[in-house]
Amino acid sequence: MKIGFIGLGIMGSRMAANLVKAGYDLKVYNRTKEKAGKLLEMGAEWAESAPEAAKEVDVLFTMLENPKVVEELATGMDGFLQAMDKNSIWIDSSTVNPSFSEKMAKVAKDYGIKFMDAPVSGSKLPAANAELLFLVGGEKEDLEKVRPLLKKMGKDAVHIGPVGKGSAMKIMINQLLGQSMLAFSESLNLGMAMGIDKKTAMDILLKTPVTAPILDVFRSRIENNDYEPNFPLKHLQKDLHLFTDTAYELGQPSPLTNTAKEVYGLAKHKNMADLDFSAIFKYLHEK
Ligand code: NAP
Repeated sequence: MKIGFIGLGIMGSRMAANLVKAGYDLKVYNRTKEKAGKLLEMGAEWAESAPEAAKEVDVLFTMLENPKVVEELATGMDGFLQAMDKNSIWIDSSTVNPSFSEKMAKVAKDYGIKFMDAPVSGSKLPAANAELLFLVGGEKEDLEKVRPLLKKMGKDAVHIGPVGKGSAMKIMINQLLGQSMLAFSESLNLGMAMGIDKKTAMDILLKTPVTAPILDVFRSRIENNDYEPNFPLKHLQKDLHLFTDTAYELGQPSPLTNTAKEVYGLAKHKNMADLDFSAIFKYLHEK
């Protein structure tokens, strides 16, 4: 089976590496070629363009920044869809909005290509350790065909529903992630302003059932002021935007998420776009 992989950032580079390690024949492309260095040493083949990576493969993965980038690379005269074989499968693991996944599925269908949205839950370390959870939207039978591949990159792949439902589940998860981190940061910051020692405040907050368990993972970052990105803040803000955009499309309320999105947006404008999203504490705390 021949596989193409486009997008070798924090997540894509590690996911692709697990496919190479598993012995799959992989063609890779990334806008910035340097990021493919390690993969090429491991035996992956370099493609000079996105269409080149998509040509003559059975399955193509994309792991790109946002819907705009996915659309730019996929569609049009120079897009990779026109280069793909009929009946091959395109799996978009980028975090995008459900209506965008539906749109890409329609475009792909026009080219005779099958589409699945399969965004992932899990960050840099789970990507490296093949412990991601794939949230899959699309045909069940297509998922079963590619499940062995997903199993090399993740601990499980769950069929959520038809096209778009993987993306839907993913933006729900990240909405909670972004809100939890922000609420915790706000509480901790005020606690410190009220004179409660930072360590004591974190000890207690992280033990109470009202705090999301995942926040424990970020404790050492806040303690050490270390915000090297696992999940860049600009991507979290993008995901909150995908959530509020979807809420607008569906006529649903999203007041808290709109507010949270703007707070991350302000942090982005304080040069924090490329820090880890947990730097939202730094943004609230620093004068
Ligand atoms: P990243 O390191 O910033 O990588 C982004 C990728 O998109 C890179 O390959 C980048 O190419 C490419 N890209 C951006 N703009 C482009 C453009 N204009 N043209 C062509 N390529 C472009 O991000 P990541 O953390 O791997 O995230 C990738 C996706 O996974 C995002 O949708 C993110 O929301 C999602 N995600 C991330 C995490 C996480 O913890 N990091 C977890 C789950 C899901 P260059 O290398 O040339 O910049």
